Amino acid sequence: MTTYRRRGHWRTRSSGTRHWVTTHHVTRSSARPATSPGRSHPRSSSPAPSGAVGWISPNASCPVCGAAVYFYANEHGSRVFFDELGPPWPKHPCTDNPALHATTAGGRQAPSIRDLGVARRPSDMRDRAWKAYAVKGIAIEDGRSSIALQPLNGAGRGLSWTVSRPLSLRADDIVFVRAQQMSYFDADACEPAIVEDARRAAEIARRLITERDRQHVLAAIAGRVAAGEMTPDEVAEVTVAVRAARTRGELAAAIRIRVTDLTVAPPRRGDLWLLAIAFVLMVGATSAAEGGRSFLMMLPGLLLMATAVYRLNPDLERGARVVFAVLTAVVAICPAGALGGAIQVEILQR
Ligand SMILES: [Zn+2]
Repeated sequence: MTTYRRRGHWRTRSSGTRHWVTTHHVTRSSARPATSPGRSHPRSSSPAPSGAVGWISPNASCPVCGAAVYFYANEHGSRVFFDELGPPWPKHPCTDNPALHATTAGGRQAPSIRDLGVARRPSDMRDRAWKAYAVKGIAIEDGRSSIALQPLNGAGRGLSWTVSRPLSLRADDIVFVRAQQMSYFDADACEPAIVEDARRAAEIARRLITERDRQHVLAAIAGRVAAGEMTPDEVAEVTVAVRAARTRGELAAAIRIRVTDLTVAPPRRGDLWLLAIAFVLMVGATSAAEGGRSFLMMLPGLLLMATAVYRLNPDLERGARVVFAVLTAVVAICPAGALGGAIQVEILQR
């Protein structure tokens, strides 16, 4: 990568008007080091984006206004300019001009870690809820892609993803992950794409739904009707499918969205209050007594907590729900006991 300082200069827009571009630094990826096997196809070394294929690092400049942009071109003549890499992939506005389309030659590439400096912070244009990762390795088997991801700054835990179709990603490409979704630049389609983790999605799809979840989704549909986004015929059809749905997967299919995009009914506020009161009761019991007596005094709190946890997890099967509720209540003894003990020591010292 070479960086040089470009002095201020006049630039001519495609419309023929001229404007002044102030002095700025230009980084050229054409001089990328030869440490990238698999990326050995010919790249253009021309300083302007025209004629180049693949990605040009930030500081490639827009041919119209001279602003620093990320630029992609493929062999089919498609060219995209982005103000920022990553969701929502803000497109640079002044390059929707067909006159800028140029003939290009050979090769394909997606954005790689070399295009996104580790030290470079995402601008306000990028949705920071999406974390950037680099592809460590990808294996395609039986039409599924298994992808190992590592955080871009090298720190923290990596992720392992399974996508139910082959993806055209390679080692060092960058992707963005949020919850169960991954956003990446599909170099073949020449546009950003979103995929979901097949394993995680299948897990969510199996979860049961409650009548409250059904009502929550029907209310959302009613909102879309009011906004004129759905016709009465569509609504009738969707409503039947929603009423018949038993799992999250069926519910998502009924309203034709990805299961990872589905929002079910939020927890009841009363159940959250119950949880808080149960914890306070447990802390109160351990701060008032010691040993076996404190455990007896804690029983009402324990029962209340198990009830609250049970009520807060309607999407679990009955047996699992009971076990989870009891386990959570038992585990809660530790923090409640520690807090209660601390309060007791505080009282004794006075
Ligand atoms: Zn521009």
